Amino acid sequence: MSPLRVLLVEDSEDDALLLLLQLKRSGQQVQHMRVDTADAMRTALQQQWDVVISDFTMPRFSGEAALEIFREVGLVCPFIIVTGTIGEESAVALMKKGVSDFVLKTNLPRLPGVVERELRESQLRREKRSAEEALRISEERYKLAMQAANDGLWDWNIRDHFVYYSPRWKAMIGYGEDEISSSPNEWYDRLHPDEREQFRARLITYFKRLTPLFELEHRVNIKDGSYRWKMTRGLALYDENGRAYRMAGSQTDVTERKRTEEQLLHDAFHDGLTGLPNRALFTDLLGFSLEHRQRNASYLSAVLFINLERFRFVNDSFGHRIGDQYLIEVAERLRAILRPGDAAARFAGDEFAILMDDVREPSEVTRFAETLQSVIAKPLGLGGHEFFPGCCIGIVFNSTDYRAPEDMLRDADTAMHRAKKKGVTKFEVFNRDMHASAVTTLQLEHDLRRATERREFILYYQPIVDLRCGRLASFEALIRWMHPSGRMVSPIEFIPLAEELGLINQIGRQVLEMACRQIVEWQQRQPGYAPIPVSVNLSGKQLGQPGLVEEIEQIIAETGLNAPSLKLEITETMLMENPEIASEILSRLRAKNIKVLMDDFGTGYSSLSYLHRFPSDTLKIDGSFVSRMTESRDGREIVRTIILLAHNLGMTVIAECVETEEHVALLREYGCDYAQGYYFGKPLPADLTAELIQSNPTWD
Ligand code: C2E
Ligand code: MG
Ligand code: MG
Repeated sequence: MSPLRVLLVEDSEDDALLLLLQLKRSGQQVQHMRVDTADAMRTALQQQWDVVISDFTMPRFSGEAALEIFREVGLVCPFIIVTGTIGEESAVALMKKGVSDFVLKTNLPRLPGVVERELRESQLRREKRSAEEALRISEERYKLAMQAANDGLWDWNIRDHFVYYSPRWKAMIGYGEDEISSSPNEWYDRLHPDEREQFRARLITYFKRLTPLFELEHRVNIKDGSYRWKMTRGLALYDENGRAYRMAGSQTDVTERKRTEEQLLHDAFHDGLTGLPNRALFTDLLGFSLEHRQRNASYLSAVLFINLERFRFVNDSFGHRIGDQYLIEVAERLRAILRPGDAAARFAGDEFAILMDDVREPSEVTRFAETLQSVIAKPLGLGGHEFFPGCCIGIVFNSTDYRAPEDMLRDADTAMHRAKKKGVTKFEVFNRDMHASAVTTLQLEHDLRRATERREFILYYQPIVDLRCGRLASFEALIRWMHPSGRMVSPIEFIPLAEELGLINQIGRQVLEMACRQIVEWQQRQPGYAPIPVSVNLSGKQLGQPGLVEEIEQIIAETGLNAPSLKLEITETMLMENPEIASEILSRLRAKNIKVLMDDFGTGYSSLSYLHRFPSDTLKIDGSFVSRMTESRDGREIVRTIILLAHNLGMTVIAECVETEEHVALLREYGCDYAQGYYFGKPLPADLTAELIQSNPTWD
């Protein structure tokens, strides 16, 4: 046990010894110092003491003065006064000043007990004081943490209905320190109405201790009127009855994360380019519509499956930037004419779909399809080019008891392909027969791929006659597909499919090779004759093929052909649709001595005014105009005018589908240069063509 450190304030050495004797009686070791002046007292107090025992009256000092100095220093040890007598009043006054106890000189044996008790109490006081200190420090730290934390903090006194909101909590919703009271309503009233109920419910389940933590993401109305997403977390303290009486927690701003999540969700169901719903979302919507139909038999809805014509061409020839803008514009046009409640979607590439909900009668849908087509077809200016978009539409009504949206989409797709083939109105309503024909198309697709690989195509040649002298002038090469079944398939059937499947470039190359080789062979067989040119049809899609001109050059070089013997036919529609790229290719071909003629003239956008822009010197009047010559005066006038105009522009004119003597007579009258058609001869296989050349025919 360490010795008791005692400071004695005592003028008499003997009295001091007496006191010490008393203290040591119980075997306590004592270490002491005696002082009897203020100065000595001050010096002594620079050390640590366990107890101060002071005489009350001294010649040069006093117990009261000693107490004063003791208080100044701020010691916490007991201060005991030993005195002969003391009045009750002054004793009370001294105790108020901090005296721990009094011991009468007549009762000195009490001293050890008093000292011991006072030491104990002082120890308790010290402990209490340091506990208080610790509390104060920790509270201050907590306060600091609250102010510094990035999260807002709150501390809710549930019994007394007030909430401590940290400055950060207030700042996070746009308010200053003094702008928010400590009412729980400051919080509750700012919750988004959509989440208030959830907030309450969560709180209740937490208070019932069904969840380990209160946690909720919710929106809070902030000062500028907008809402921000917050994540609130909290923990409660429970009283002995299991009631929560205090709850504290944090509030984190999660707005950015929420936005990202919402964006991701949006992206998963929308097309990034046009912002329209994507196939997934559309299929969902269609699913709802079908369910509705299950409950309400009179409910009619329709799906329009839309395919843009020639989009791939635009994209390939003008680049993706123009292609993208093209799609965005089309999407805008679709949006603009939707009835309220209908949905438009982009499926892929050039495929769009519209769901028309709650249709009164089928004609409402077909009328809409007509409007849609005329809206889509408006000229479209992009990057200095002018485009003429077009679309085919497949329509399917939900009346045929569809269960799955996919089935309805499949049939809409089938109807769309049917519409594509039709050419004129370009929309088609699905019917049951189409299903069978869709299967046939699928088969054809497969066969066509194989045919391209195995080179199952051959060329037929149709004579073109000089109308002035009736002599054979050239041939047009026309492709035929010898299907393994023995059937000869017409190009009208498979060329559009080949274009769609992306096989056309390969097929086009095969045709060019065959034609060039054939011309060379004929020329070699009869070297004496002037070479007879052959014209080869080029699909508009091929114009978009990179390196087309180089490929043609390469084929010519490989086959050893004399370039002027090859001509290319490109339809007017294709030329007009992509004037820039077409004129560029035409000029480059012309520079290589390969002529291009404009096929099917008159079926396009009647672009007589555009004619001079093309470096083409021959046009072929479409067969339909030739046929109509004999039907009406107008029919004749059209052909006459085309010929006149072309001649004025310095162009040569060929008429196709010339079938009768009357046709020939009229064309001659109008000054048409060349003619082609069954009247002069049907397309013939190569061997029969060779015989024809040899017979050196003339027609009159
Ligand atoms: P086109 O280039 O306008 O060819 C003329 C079409 O009219 C040919 O049909 C020909 O057989 C037909 N025809 C010729 N004379 C008469 C007639 O007096 N009366 C009638 N009613 N028809 C006549 P074909 O061979 O079925 O070709 C159809 C279309 O297929 C061609 O139209 C052309 O656009 C395309 N085509 C043909 N061969 C090829 C080819 O090798 N490549 C590409 N890309 N397309 C081709
Ligand atoms: Mg042709
Ligand atoms: Mg033609």
